[in-house]
Amino acid sequence: MGRYEGEFLVIGLGRFGGGLATTLAELGHDVLGVDVDPKLIQSFANVLTHVVEADSTDMDAMQQVGAGDFATAVVAIGTEIEASILTTSVLVDLGVPKIVAKAVTEAHGTILERVGAHRVIFPERDMGVRVGHSLAGAMIDYFQLDPGFALVETTAPQVIVGKTLAGAEVRRRYGITVVCIKPEGGSFTYATPDTVVQEGDILVVAGETPRAEAFGELG
Ligand code: ATP
Repeated sequence: MGRYEGEFLVIGLGRFGGGLATTLAELGHDVLGVDVDPKLIQSFANVLTHVVEADSTDMDAMQQVGAGDFATAVVAIGTEIEASILTTSVLVDLGVPKIVAKAVTEAHGTILERVGAHRVIFPERDMGVRVGHSLAGAMIDYFQLDPGFALVETTAPQVIVGKTLAGAEVRRRYGITVVCIKPEGGSFTYATPDTVVQEGDILVVAGETPRAEAFGELG
């Protein structure tokens, strides 16, 4: 087993970890993937920079792969909560400066934070929230940037169709900023005060969560 000094260590190459590791590799990053499953390790051998078959709860094994030298580690073990917590704790002990851990429940997330994860993510819950928003009203997509701030993709509400963004006074009336705009069949361009909103345009707007949501639901 070699020692690597790399950028990203991804532990658990299931659906979430596998997708994340592949994306980082495609973006040109150096990625070491670790999993206990030899079949998974084999299937990622040509996709990631390095792969190692190892039990990430084993401190010796993690030391051997040089886990402590990675800038960022992602713990993408979900259902095996015990393995997820132990792995996070091993990475904390090895001094990894940025540990991102996936949680399946709120309690799991709380424990991961207590153990020392720097960022806890809830992919299933967050995707449920996004899809929920996209099903309600005219909203197409929804990203929570912070608990209090959101980015919403939505069809242009009727009340502003035919007006320029300046004329519609979207900031004053709705408390949001239109970031970019896409005509039907066209592509996105930056929004300017003179941009005239047409029927069927798609807008991406940023604002405080309740205001961005309310704008997305105007229809
Ligand atoms: P996903 O939804 O992303 O497919 P999941 O939430 O169902 O994953 P698990 O199946 O628990 O999560 O784990 C994901 C991956 O982590 C699996 O490929 C599994 O083999 C691997 N894994 C689990 N425990 C360990 C461990 N101790 N060391 C290394 N890899 C592990």
